[in-house]
Amino acid sequence: MEMQDVYHYWGGQWQKPLGTETIEVHDPALGQTIATLNLATEQEVNAAVEAAHTAFQSWRRVPVTERVQPLFRLKAILERDFEALTRTITLECGKTLAESRGEMRRAIENVETACGTPYLIQSAFNESIAPGIDEFSIRQPLGVAALLCPFNFPGMIPFWFLPYAIAVGSTVVIKPSERVPLTMQMLMQLMQESGLPQGVVNVINGGRHTSEQLIAHPLVKSISFVGSSAAARNVYLQAATHGKRVQCQGGAKNPVVILPDADIETSTAVIADSAFGCAGQRCLASSIAILVGEANKPFAESLRDAAATRKTGNGFDDVQMGPVISEASRHRIESLLNSVNENVSIDGRKHDLDKGYFVKPTILENLDDTNPILRTEIFGPVLTLIEKPTIEAALEFVNSGAYGNMACLFTRSGEAARRFRTEAEVGNVGINVGVAAPMSYFPFSGARESFFGDLHGQGEDAIRFFTNEKVVVERWPKEWSRKF
Ligand code: NAD
Repeated sequence: MEMQDVYHYWGGQWQKPLGTETIEVHDPALGQTIATLNLATEQEVNAAVEAAHTAFQSWRRVPVTERVQPLFRLKAILERDFEALTRTITLECGKTLAESRGEMRRAIENVETACGTPYLIQSAFNESIAPGIDEFSIRQPLGVAALLCPFNFPGMIPFWFLPYAIAVGSTVVIKPSERVPLTMQMLMQLMQESGLPQGVVNVINGGRHTSEQLIAHPLVKSISFVGSSAAARNVYLQAATHGKRVQCQGGAKNPVVILPDADIETSTAVIADSAFGCAGQRCLASSIAILVGEANKPFAESLRDAAATRKTGNGFDDVQMGPVISEASRHRIESLLNSVNENVSIDGRKHDLDKGYFVKPTILENLDDTNPILRTEIFGPVLTLIEKPTIEAALEFVNSGAYGNMACLFTRSGEAARRFRTEAEVGNVGINVGVAAPMSYFPFSGARESFFGDLHGQGEDAIRFFTNEKVVVERWPKEWSRKF
């Protein structure tokens, strides 16, 4: 494996980094360094933002029908280089190739949806709100958008925002996660090939400090953040202080409720994939299975079995689950498990994978409802089983946590499903679905500590987020006009 250089990109040029503070990028399956990233200096952050601001002056005036043409080309280029992209995701992020393919498919779907921006950006017109007076609204691009991204979906998450921002006429500065910069480096090469004018998309590599500089920069008009809840809250508060438009997706602790009438085979497979897929590092990973009444015994057995038999290894091999992102992450997960040692029924700490950052699927059971681990985002392949007597008690638990990203129900009862989707206080609901990830034409929702803001990523919400709505009230008195 050759070491890769990580460059910034602004004003249509790759920029050799000037920063002297570095971070190693690892292949988490082998525990080897594959690149070194230089954290951006303030001067570099300023240069990237200024390039985006300069490009905005002309890009905003390009007709929307022309602005979407590079997106049509990008879609074809992403399809052409699909496998190379998925290999880069697996290399730096550790997930299996099948999971990386699923991720890139979702990214491409957002490019496809944003190609419809000439339609999506239309707004309202009322003829004759009073005699001779019409009123209408127009959506105009905000300006430079900063996109601050997490490590777990380096190909997909930037695309919840990017294609919409540029299609409406804004320009962007992306800060990928410092742990996985190579996917965005490759995506940027492909965006360059799609014919986007220089400065419309820019990439700056760095960590928390770089995010904070972008948030404070007066030429940055909007902040789109995805990451842990603590950081999301921090970004939301800072952005508000600087008067910026802001949307922050946060962390999660997702419950799935299993009723006694649920189909055991399909539900187990779907829940195991949700809990252990991407090594539990999805914001939509199931983390707590609430087994209602008679569901307890059979589902506890089947989920234990699914955890114990899941094939774990290097994502490039024929496996069902890869490593977690870093040694620090593995240690954090293991120390959380050590704190509830007596509740570990399937123990993923024990395995013979001697290289890389592996924790195998783990099951926790018999925890007291007040145990803090039931409220802590583990972000690893750990599923906790708890028992509740009724759907009411299960719903009460679902609505009692701080997070509200996703909740799922497994049942054959339409009545129970209808009640669940109405009463669960979360942003995304799954019914007999374990990863309720909204398609690109729906908002990627979230509630409570899982989302700060109002407009989400994807689809129409993203179009609205990256535009200002201006209202025009217009009168053309008859008596002022020449007669024709
Ligand atoms: P993270 O919060 O550590 O980092 C996210 C990004 O923010 C990175 O680019 C990082 O450099 C930057 N950052 C870190 N701390 C910051 C701070 N205090 N202020 C400003 N910027 C900061 O998250 P991560 O470990 O990369 O990603 C995993 C987390 O993201 C999990 O909590 C997961 O649930 C969450 N996530 C949520 C969603 C969602 O849609 N709700 C989607 C994916 C991931």
